[in-house]
Amino acid sequence: MATTIDPSTHVGDGNGKQDGKHDDDTKKKSSRKHAVPELLFGDLWEFDPAPETASPNIKPRYDLFIGGQFVAPQSGQYFDSINPATEEVVSQIALASPGDVDAAYYAAQMAYETVWRDMPGRERGKYVYRIARLLQDRAREFAVAETIDGGKPIKESRDFDVPMAAAHFFYHAGWADKLAYIAPGRRVEPIGVVGQVIPWNFPLLMLAWKIAPAIAAGNCVVLKPAETTSVTAMKFAELLQDAGLPDGVVNIVTGAGETGAAVVNHPAAKKIAFTGSTEVGKIIMRSLAERGTRMTMELGGKAANVVFEDAPIDQAVEGVINGIFFNQGHVCCAGSRLLVQESIADMFVRKLRQRMAVLRVGDPLDKNTDVGAINSREQLDRICDLVESGISEGAEMFQPSCALPPRGYFYRPTIFTGVTQSHRIAREEIFGPVLSILTFRTMDEAVERANNTMYGLSAGVWTDKGSRILRMATDLKAGVVWANTFNKFDPTSPFGGYKESGFGREGGRQGLLDYVELA
Ligand code: NAD
Ligand code: MN
Repeated sequence: MATTIDPSTHVGDGNGKQDGKHDDDTKKKSSRKHAVPELLFGDLWEFDPAPETASPNIKPRYDLFIGGQFVAPQSGQYFDSINPATEEVVSQIALASPGDVDAAYYAAQMAYETVWRDMPGRERGKYVYRIARLLQDRAREFAVAETIDGGKPIKESRDFDVPMAAAHFFYHAGWADKLAYIAPGRRVEPIGVVGQVIPWNFPLLMLAWKIAPAIAAGNCVVLKPAETTSVTAMKFAELLQDAGLPDGVVNIVTGAGETGAAVVNHPAAKKIAFTGSTEVGKIIMRSLAERGTRMTMELGGKAANVVFEDAPIDQAVEGVINGIFFNQGHVCCAGSRLLVQESIADMFVRKLRQRMAVLRVGDPLDKNTDVGAINSREQLDRICDLVESGISEGAEMFQPSCALPPRGYFYRPTIFTGVTQSHRIAREEIFGPVLSILTFRTMDEAVERANNTMYGLSAGVWTDKGSRILRMATDLKAGVVWANTFNKFDPTSPFGGYKESGFGREGGRQGLLDYVELA
């Protein structure tokens, strides 16, 4: 990757004012004496390619997983899942029609009534443990498959997605025989058959968030993965066969929105768990409201990452970079709005630009890659559209000059300065590697700006002052508030939204409560 940075842009200009214009543009040399020169390596040397070579064991075609068997879709139709980094077909995925979904619910209901509901928790737990162990055993294979089908960098699928998915099964396996303790004095019972629909940004991990608590608590499942990323879900179905999970406890049906609608509207569903966009979430809520089906909704976000002037600056820069460029910014809780205190804004933005210039964008299978491929052509178009709106509404864009691969869906890490609250890029979820930067002067202003959104999924606070962290954590209307860190996850910690980011929690005791009936 070539980094062509003018060294004159890397010294302080002694001007604490944030005016949306930066010396990078004017190429004005700083007159400040004591500015420390940056270490700039440019393209003095290049990393050798370091491709991950393990076999992902992907079949050329996947059928539906119903009643413990792989069965052809009634329509006989399949659709392509492609590798967004190469635009090549990875596998063919079965298109489930309402008839297939009906068969999946029937299998789930049978398994629930005849096997799973009445199995003692200590026995159920053994299956969940076995799933966790098998996932660990095949971690490398799953990581490569996830990266090929979805475009995320191998270092993320290897170090985050797959280990976290296994951790969710381990954690919930431990609960299976201790459910009485999640609500002392109450009788804790499963709900029944649960319909689950998930998005494409963390395909295997979202599957784990859904399936692990559901089956540990004694429910049976019909799950639909997202249409661009079904491969690891089908590999997971093979793993369930190897684990000997009783037939029908988990059923996986593939397809797009219509299949999803059949899953959420099926009369046998006692609860619907949905993760996806706020737009689709609202459609589902409307149709379920009539039936009174239980539901949890994990929807979109537009998180504020708030950096105060006393923050550990270099760590904050790393946190902001991670917060928006992790998984190409395809993260519901991404720190997509940076609120930085005015007194440090110029310096902070300069440091961000320097850090962005050394992000490695490219082949997701390369172990050195930081930013992989955008998940689909459609998503790439959406990102381009929103970036265009940012430019035309008057914000100022910066992108490093890194080279992008000739094929596949790639997008340069992007930041906008001079953003105001009325800009679309400050209000709408971009779900891509695009950061909108706003400034503030006082803590009250920071809180007001951070909360000035229809979303409320996550937030970040960077400051040296403990009392300020506590105050911000109280005042920010977000399901999770990270302090001096970002994007930290653990199966013990509940995750979920406020406002239009949804309701219900996943993870921890709170997450389990959403999968049981209390008598
Ligand atoms: P999406 O809403 O378009 O699709 C999500 C899933 O719903 C897919 O499986 C899709 O096939 C299915 N679907 C589409 N129309 C449907 C319908 N009418 N009925 C039932 N199912 C339907 O979202 P996406 O583009 O796949 O994912 C991105 C969105 O997901 C972002 O908004 C992101 O913030 C959100 N997300 C939220 C969380 C969270 O935990 N809050 C986590 C990950 C992603
Ligand atoms: Mn794909």
